Amino acid sequence: MGDQLRLPATGPLLALLVALGAAKMPTTAAPATAAAVAAPRLGVRASSRDAAPDAGALRITVLFDNTVADPRLRAAWGFAALIEHRGHTVLFDTGGDAGVFGPNLDSLGIDPRHIEAIAISHAHDDHIAGLAILAAGGRRVLLYALPAFPAAFRERFGSAFRLADAAPGQELSPGVFTTGELVDPAVGVPEQSLVIPTDSGLVIVTACAHPGIVAIVRRAVAMYHAPVYLVAGGFHLLQKSDVELDAIIAEFRRLGVRRVGATHCTGERAIARLAAAYGQDFVPMGAGRVLLIGG
Ligand SMILES: [Zn+2]
Ligand SMILES: [Zn+2]
Repeated sequence: MGDQLRLPATGPLLALLVALGAAKMPTTAAPATAAAVAAPRLGVRASSRDAAPDAGALRITVLFDNTVADPRLRAAWGFAALIEHRGHTVLFDTGGDAGVFGPNLDSLGIDPRHIEAIAISHAHDDHIAGLAILAAGGRRVLLYALPAFPAAFRERFGSAFRLADAAPGQELSPGVFTTGELVDPAVGVPEQSLVIPTDSGLVIVTACAHPGIVAIVRRAVAMYHAPVYLVAGGFHLLQKSDVELDAIIAEFRRLGVRRVGATHCTGERAIARLAAAYGQDFVPMGAGRVLLIGG
C-alpha cells in the first residue's frame, strides 16, 4: 500500500503494528540495526483486519473517533474501540452517533454479532449513542457499566442488554481488565478504563479520562505493578496550560509510559505537545486505526 509507513522500532519484546484497517503482517522487517533483532515493529498500513491476530497478540481497532485514519470511515465526536485478545472480542464504548458507528463497523467488515461483551466507560452520550445499533437482534449482550451510572442509563439499556456493574480489577474478557470506577470529586463523572497486561507492559485504553489521565495511569500501575507500554484514547486535556501539559508528560515518564496514542477529547494543542515529546513513540489514532501489539 502506498501509504504504508514504518517507524523505527524502539521497544523490547513485542511488536506494535499500527494499521489502517488490513490484511497481512509487515513483509519487511524494521530497520536493521544491531539492537533491532528482537525489537518491535511500529508501522502504519492500509488494511489489516482481514487476517485474525496471532493467538498471543492484542488487536485494538479504533471504530469511532473525531478524526479518521481510514478514508472509508466517518469521523464524529466520540470514541469507540474494539479489543480483540486471546480469541475474544470486547467493545469499549460506542461513539456519539449511531448513524456513524454502524456504517463504520460495516466499512471495517465487523459483524456486531461477534462482539461478546461491551464495556461502557462512562454515561456521556459521545460514548453510548452507538448502543442503539447493538440493541437490535435480541441478543442481550453482556454490558459492563459502573455502579454510579445514572438510573436513566439502566432504564434506557436494561432491557436490550444484560447489565453488570464492573468492579476494580475485574476481567471483562480473557486478559482484559478494568480499573473499575474512578472519579475526580471536582469533576464528578465516574469512569472506567481498560488495562491489558502484555509482555511489554500494560496497555491502557481510556475513553474521556474525566478522572484525570495521570490518576488513571497511576491506578493501573498500582493494580498491576508493571510498566506502561501504551496509553491510548481520550486524555481530556483541553483546558490544560502548556505548563500543566509538561507536568503531565513528566509524570508519564516517571510512571514509565513508553508510548501514547492521544485522541478524542485530548485537544489538538495537547496532542501536538504529546506528539512532540514522544516523537516516534507517539501512536497516531483516528477511526479505522488498528494497533497490533505482540504475537
Ligand atoms: Zn465524557
Ligand atoms: Zn468523550
